[in-house]
Amino acid sequence: MKHSIIVGFGLAGFHYAQQLKAYDKEFLIIDKPQNSASRNAAGICNPTVLKRYTMAWKGVEFLNYAMPKYNSLESDFKTTVFYPLPIHRYFFSAGEQNLWAVASQDEVLNQFLEPTFKTKSTNGIQRNFGYGNVKGVGRLAINKMLEAFLTLLNKDQNLETTFDYERLEIHREKIVYNGIEAKNIIFCEGFGLKNNPWFNYLPLVGSKGEYLTIKAPELSQKKIIKGGVFISPIGEDLFWVGATFNPHDKIKATTKEGLKWILTKLEKLVDTPFEIVHHGAQIRPTVIDRRPLLGQHPKYHNMYVFNGLGTRGVLMAPLLSKWLYDFIDFKKELPEAVAINRFEAYFCNPNKAYV
Ligand SMILES: Cc1cc2nc3c(=O)[nH]c(=O)nc-3n(C[C@H](O)[C@H](O)[C@H](O)COP(=O)(O)OP(=O)(O)OC[C@H]3O[C@@H](n4cnc5c(N)ncnc54)[C@H](O)[C@@H]3O)c2cc1C
Repeated sequence: MKHSIIVGFGLAGFHYAQQLKAYDKEFLIIDKPQNSASRNAAGICNPTVLKRYTMAWKGVEFLNYAMPKYNSLESDFKTTVFYPLPIHRYFFSAGEQNLWAVASQDEVLNQFLEPTFKTKSTNGIQRNFGYGNVKGVGRLAINKMLEAFLTLLNKDQNLETTFDYERLEIHREKIVYNGIEAKNIIFCEGFGLKNNPWFNYLPLVGSKGEYLTIKAPELSQKKIIKGGVFISPIGEDLFWVGATFNPHDKIKATTKEGLKWILTKLEKLVDTPFEIVHHGAQIRPTVIDRRPLLGQHPKYHNMYVFNGLGTRGVLMAPLLSKWLYDFIDFKKELPEAVAINRFEAYFCNPNKAYV
């Protein structure tokens, strides 16, 4: 019998599989990657909120766990997956410069925001008020990392198919899927959670993000630009640009409005020629209270959920996966802010029982 079946292989499924691997537990991943937020994300790992010049929730704690993890994965995979790059936060007014100056004195933020800001734009970028430098941040090449892991798996560890919820048998001591037995099942479906008959009571809102890939040979590959949109270098003169944030539209298709919004921001920022190579869209798994969703099903003790990574999956997923593993296998309590029992009132007991 396997230890776990993991449904969904984005950042959540990947990091949970890493925990299982670290404890030498057998697992099976079931994933149909067509609706993956992770595979469309910029991969920026940033513990600060550059709109408001504050720290993200538990930003330092998450970062301190994530960075050594990504570095150690590079030795496992024998390839680079994390690219340390500064973020240049461009200013739109003198007021923003002042806010930066104040924020950079804060005893936590000053680990990331350099106090002196540059008053001139750099090559290819046009902003009259200059920029501040964010250090200790960078970009995770998510697709490369996911693929590197998949190539190391045996055939019986990975099924590329849609999980059919009807076929799951829930016994008291095990779960069985298509004849495959496991002690437990961990649902890591991102926005696909909406189709999950056991966990769809959780208040996952979902926020669509549209982005572009552009080719801009004159822009520098050595930094991430933030000014209305993020412009993140991805190699070979290509840049990821985005993203929109729309909690009302849950359809994966790209839109003319999304394209227009990104181009308006981009054209204000760059003064170098570029060509659009790709326009993409995906739904971020955001939650009503903006906190992750970790925990055990209220009725079935061998079913778990790992979701709600929102806009910061790269930063948070490594430590969250440890919290969830410790909760399941070592019976350690989950931090209240992420435990799904905060939404117990939303659960209405479905008329189903153990097999
Ligand atoms: C445009 C955009 C830009 C972003 N930029 C960043 C960024 O720069 N930095 C950052 O930290 N975060 C970013 N995010 C957020 C980040 O992508 C998410 O936090 C994270 O990827 C969520 O990971 P996940 O594993 O929970 O879900 P997903 O990555 O969506 O993975 C879920 C997987 O489960 C599969 N699945 C679902 N249901 C089933 C089923 N029934 N059967 C089989 N497979 C199933 C899906 O197809 C998918 O492969 C961005 C998101 C978007 C949309």
